[in-house]
Amino acid sequence: MNEHDSERIAGLLESEGYTKADDAEGADLVVLNTCAIRENADKRLYGTLGQLKRSKDRRPELRIAVGGCLVQKDKHLVLSKAPWVDVAFGTFAVGELPALLERRERSGVAAFEFREQTEVFPSALPARRNDPFHAWVAVSVGCDNACTFCIVPSVRGPQVSRRMGEILEEVRDLVDDGVVEVTLLGQNVNTYGRDLDGRPLFAELLRALDDIAGLRRVRFTSPHPHDFTPDVIDAMASSAVVCEHIHFPMQSGSDRVLKQMRRSYRIDRYLGWLERIRQAIPGIAVSTDIIVGFPGETEDDFADTIRAVEAARFDSAFTFLYSVRPGTQAASMEGAVEPGVAQERYERLVECQERISLERNLSTVGRRFEVLVEEVSSRKDPHKVTARTRTNKLVHVPAEARSTGEFVDVVVTEAHPHHLDALPA
Ligand code: SAM
Ligand code: SF4
Repeated sequence: MNEHDSERIAGLLESEGYTKADDAEGADLVVLNTCAIRENADKRLYGTLGQLKRSKDRRPELRIAVGGCLVQKDKHLVLSKAPWVDVAFGTFAVGELPALLERRERSGVAAFEFREQTEVFPSALPARRNDPFHAWVAVSVGCDNACTFCIVPSVRGPQVSRRMGEILEEVRDLVDDGVVEVTLLGQNVNTYGRDLDGRPLFAELLRALDDIAGLRRVRFTSPHPHDFTPDVIDAMASSAVVCEHIHFPMQSGSDRVLKQMRRSYRIDRYLGWLERIRQAIPGIAVSTDIIVGFPGETEDDFADTIRAVEAARFDSAFTFLYSVRPGTQAASMEGAVEPGVAQERYERLVECQERISLERNLSTVGRRFEVLVEEVSSRKDPHKVTARTRTNKLVHVPAEARSTGEFVDVVVTEAHPHHLDALPA
C-alpha cells in the first residue's frame, strides 16, 4: 500500500513539473513516505531526517516533506522532533502534497495536513509506476478488523471500498497503457464491497477481471482467513488470469495466541482452507505472514506454530518479531517475551521455513513455467535477468536480450530457498 502511495506521490509531483533526481544530494525536494507497522520504521525516519538536516544546513533551499502512516500516527510530533521538515502530510492527504509545498513557500513556515478520513482514493491521482508492465490497484483502503498487534486501523481508518466499475475502468486503462499484471490491494480483500452494498464482492471482481482482454496476470493481497469464502476459491480456480498463488497470513499456529491477537479463526480452520484451496487449484503456491514473540507466547505456543508451519508447507513466509505499537491493545498486554527468547524462536522458525521452501522449490526442478521478466540488470549477476512465475517464485534466467515485461517459457534447472535457476525452454 505504501509503495502504491509512493507511486502516486511521484506521479502527482511529475504532473506539477517536478522531475526525478538521481539522488537525495542533488534533489531540491526529498519526500519520505513512512511506514508505522513496526518500530524500526520510527527509528529509521528520525535517523534519515537527521542526515537530511545536515544537507539542509548546507543548502537551505532544500525542501523536505514527510508523509505516510508514521506521520498519521505522530502528527505534530514529527514537526516538533524535526523542525527542519517543511511539509508533513498524513495517509489521507497524499493528494494535498503540491498544495502544501506551495503553502510552505508562501508562508515561510512548515505546512501540514492530517485528515481523519479518505476523500480521494489514491488511485484517482496520477501515478509514476516503477514498472511499465505491473500496477498496484487499490480495491479498498483502511480496515474494519482490530487485530490487537496492528496499527493499520488507527492510521488508515475503517475500510472504504471503491466501486467495482471504477476499478475495472482503471485496469482497462492500465492494460491500454501496456500493463499485463495487476496486484489488487486491500487490508482484507475478502470483505471488499461489504461497505458498498452490504455483501462481499471480491469473487465477482475476480470474475469480471477475467474478461479484460490483454490482462495476463492478477494477484491480490491480503485475504483474511476469517472472512475467506468458497466463492473466492471458485473464482480463482475458474479464472485464466488470477495467478496460482495466494498470500494467506496465518500469524500464529497457536489457538490461544490467535485468540489474544483477535484473529477470529482457529488453526484447524486455517489449515482446512489451505486444503480446500490446494484441492481446487493444483500447484498453487502459498505464502504467509507469521509473528513471533507476541505477548504471552509460551514455548508450547511456539511449538504449535512450528507444527502448523510443517503442516501448511508454505512456499515462503514473511516472518516478523513482534514489535510493540503504542496505542494498540497488545501494547498493554502482560507477558512480554524476552528479546533473546523471541530472537531464538525467530531463528528456529526461519530455519524450519527455509528447509520447507527449499523442499517445495526442489519439486519444480525439470518443470516448465511461463515467467514474466521483471528486471534485466540484476545487480548480483549482469548475465542474469530476474523473472517471476505465476506462482510468484523468483527465477534467474540467462540475460540473452530479454526485456522487462516479456513472457518467456523456461525449464527450472536448480532450486534454492528463495529463488530458482532456469533456462529458456
Ligand atoms: N491486513 C493484513 C492481514 O491481516 O493479513 C496484514 C497487513 S500488515 C501491513 C502486514 C503484516 O505485518 C501482518 O500480517 C503482520 O504479520 C505484520 N505485523 C503487523 N503488525 C505487527 C507488529 N506489531 N509486530 C510485528 N509484525 C506485525
Ligand atoms: Fe491489521 Fe488485522 Fe486489519 Fe490486517 S486485518 S490490517 S493485521 S487489523
